[in-house]
Amino acid sequence: MTDVVAERQNGKNAVYFTGIAPEWRQRVQDYIAHSGSPEYVPLWPAIEPKRKSFLNLYLHPTAGSAQGVVLAEMRRSHRLNYCPACGEPGTPNTLDHYLPKALYPHFCVTPLNLFPMCDACQDLKDTKTGDAANPRFFIHPYFDVFVANQVIELAVQAPYDTPTFRLGSRAGLTAPQRALVECHVRELDIDRRFGNYFVEQHRRLLRQVDALRRSHQDVRVVLTSFRDSTALSGANVWDHIFYAATVADANFMDYLQNEDFPPFL
Ligand SMILES: [Zn+2]
Repeated sequence: MTDVVAERQNGKNAVYFTGIAPEWRQRVQDYIAHSGSPEYVPLWPAIEPKRKSFLNLYLHPTAGSAQGVVLAEMRRSHRLNYCPACGEPGTPNTLDHYLPKALYPHFCVTPLNLFPMCDACQDLKDTKTGDAANPRFFIHPYFDVFVANQVIELAVQAPYDTPTFRLGSRAGLTAPQRALVECHVRELDIDRRFGNYFVEQHRRLLRQVDALRRSHQDVRVVLTSFRDSTALSGANVWDHIFYAATVADANFMDYLQNEDFPPFL
């Protein structure tokens, strides 16, 4: 931020940005102290008349500017092959502002407020942050470090020929963590978005297992290895959630190892 202010010295808003620099710096520090939580990080109504100047730092960074270099780097060199917000496979090609830039223009180039996200999540998240019942809707990718482990869990419900799937927060999380995960899943509509994927994945699974059984391979060993290899992409990636649920469910595993499959595979 100091670099950003220094570079504004030459621009038409030089006096303005220099004048607000100490308060801006303090607000970034408060953001960090409160892990970006909208419950504790206040808006800054006084900068409203200069909203465009702030947003231009993000929307039209001058070539070679401090924030331009950081933004380009964040867009280009993340090596994610799934969306960190929903776990959908694919390269997330947009940057999201955890606290939306429409409400918090002063955090529009704060690196800790920016992270890659898929288009579907970004559309659904939009300018939402929370409400009276749940002051914070979304998991913060940098501060909520518990999401390095699996936090979303799938339940496969019989009949196993055509099961239903239900997503929820994982047992073992603390109550506040579970509440946050459930809010995040609801607001990003992850349950509905996963729906078709799981139906297809289940069909593929039956075909895979059918082939394994015909060639006398150990179904549990192979599926456990699928679970472990998908975990290497990320604990909350869709494939991993699917295989983790499969291997952990004794009834479903029993069906996969012993029952006759439907003829419509
Ligand atoms: Zn996403």
